[in-house]
Amino acid sequence: MIWNLGSINIDNFYEVPHLPAPGETLAAVSYGFGLGGKGANMSVAAARGAARVSHIGAIGADGRWTRDRLMEYGVDTPHIAQIEAPTGHANILIDPQGENSIVLFQGANVQLTEAIIGTALAEASHKDFLLMQNETNGQEYAAITAQSLGLRVVYAAAPFDSFAIERLLGRIDLLVLNEVEAAQLLEATGQSVEALGVADVIITLGAQGCRWVSNAGIKQFDAYHVEAVDTTGAGDTFTGYLVAGLDRGMDMAAAIDLALMAAALMVTRRGTADVIPDLKEIQDEFGT
Ligand code: ADP
Repeated sequence: MIWNLGSINIDNFYEVPHLPAPGETLAAVSYGFGLGGKGANMSVAAARGAARVSHIGAIGADGRWTRDRLMEYGVDTPHIAQIEAPTGHANILIDPQGENSIVLFQGANVQLTEAIIGTALAEASHKDFLLMQNETNGQEYAAITAQSLGLRVVYAAAPFDSFAIERLLGRIDLLVLNEVEAAQLLEATGQSVEALGVADVIITLGAQGCRWVSNAGIKQFDAYHVEAVDTTGAGDTFTGYLVAGLDRGMDMAAAIDLALMAAALMVTRRGTADVIPDLKEIQDEFGT
């Protein structure tokens, strides 16, 4: 089972004729909203990857539908607390060229308490995984608690924050980064990925696939070749599926292969959580 301490956002999308200038009031051409946040995306991906996943998070009264949506997608939601704060949200402006401009309010995502996290992890078993990203508070407490219970701790260092990652490094079993985050980590710590003291590190490389760095050396995996139309959520899909594969007993190479297929199919689709592929769709596409 996977315990995912993660963000839940309401993504508001506004199509605008151009990105507004300072002082300008601009009417949007269209509006839409959906479930977002790296945490929620990873929970959906892990559930679509046939793992049991319990999301640990917080929302406000305005976001009760996000919890319902996660539940519909097969995610366990008893540890998503409703608190006195607005649900995290992103207001995303998109111009006709596809350029965007985003205002993010973290809201309830950064108001998690040790009680919320501790109550959830008290139900965990030593065979379970703790998955985290960097869009909530409480990561260090969760990692310490999980480690003491014998869970394997997986951290996706996104969005990158050197302070957050340096405090977590000794408590992570698997670190997942994209190329930009890997460069930021290198700059922040002055250490090579091999010298971080993390057993397994996976660096995703977009259309180039990924690299797995472990005690056994460095192994490169090619991406599946697809026609990409929207790479939003590719990394979240990759990580959710990776941990789902590991949780279902696959070895690292097999779990990486599954994650590469899921992420490749994801980039052929527009959208985020709502369009993350399930195992059947992956099977149909890649014949596995
Ligand atoms: P992020 O979305 O976090 O920036 P990446 O861009 O590295 O991360 O993408 C994550 C994964 O998604 C890659 O490792 C790869 O498996 C898959 N992916 C991304 N872009 C493509 C692409 N154009 N073709 C096939 N797979 C892709």
